[in-house]
Amino acid sequence: MPELPEVETVKNVLKQNLLNLKITKVDVFYPPMIKTNLNEFLENLVGEEFLDVKRYGKWLVFETTNYALVSHLRMEGKYYYTLKCDREKHEHVIFHLDNGYVLRYKDVRKFGVMYLVKKEKLFTDTPLSELGLEPFSKDLNEDYLLEKFKTKRLPIKTVLLDQGIMTGLGNIYVDEVLFKSKISPFKKANLLNANDCKAIIESSKEILTDAIKLGGTTIRSYTSSLGVTGSYQDKLLVHTRKICPVCNSPILVKKIGGRSTYYCQKCQKVKDE
Ligand SMILES: [Zn+2]
Repeated sequence: MPELPEVETVKNVLKQNLLNLKITKVDVFYPPMIKTNLNEFLENLVGEEFLDVKRYGKWLVFETTNYALVSHLRMEGKYYYTLKCDREKHEHVIFHLDNGYVLRYKDVRKFGVMYLVKKEKLFTDTPLSELGLEPFSKDLNEDYLLEKFKTKRLPIKTVLLDQGIMTGLGNIYVDEVLFKSKISPFKKANLLNANDCKAIIESSKEILTDAIKLGGTTIRSYTSSLGVTGSYQDKLLVHTRKICPVCNSPILVKKIGGRSTYYCQKCQKVKDE
């Protein structure tokens, strides 16, 4: 599944290709993917020019002349920017561009979603209204996390996956952040102290910055769009690993909230419980 660094990589590649291009036609082959009015999606984008591509958490936002096209890749969504050609299997949305190219959205499992809203409605009428702070946000600090965590009696692993608190960390990077912060994934979020919160923020920034530099992580079937593959998988310290790089203990894998969680029992002790 693409996480923040992967989406950042996709965003950068799309931005290099799409700016100043106009949309001449839109085809939607799987209407349930469009979460706002379908006819408006098909009609309103025609004649619009791509002015910017941004990322908020794991959401992509294409800014056009008047609209914001919001897209989430979910499990396997990918964008391809190519010369106009026949539609391939699993391509559900195709944007025709005024330079003879097309932007094609492919999604084998069809979990991806798109919203089209007027630009000024971006943070009120789309799921972006529910996002927590970005790991890189200046407003993210220990006090913010302590306040959010104090009512959460769930494992910190589960709480960090909740995009309404801190946005952008998925399964792989939460494991890495907790390992680096020396916090057990099982520890209840409401038992974390200010130092734990500080460690989480610092590790998140460090890990995501490195992962973005390396183009994200490529494991299992996921590769970003446009042939971009990341290499952060070589840097993972705990996720998918067998031996702890710090103490040489075996890395354990357990399900927490249904998600496979990798951790070192020795380096990530549950204290204060
Ligand atoms: Zn260890």
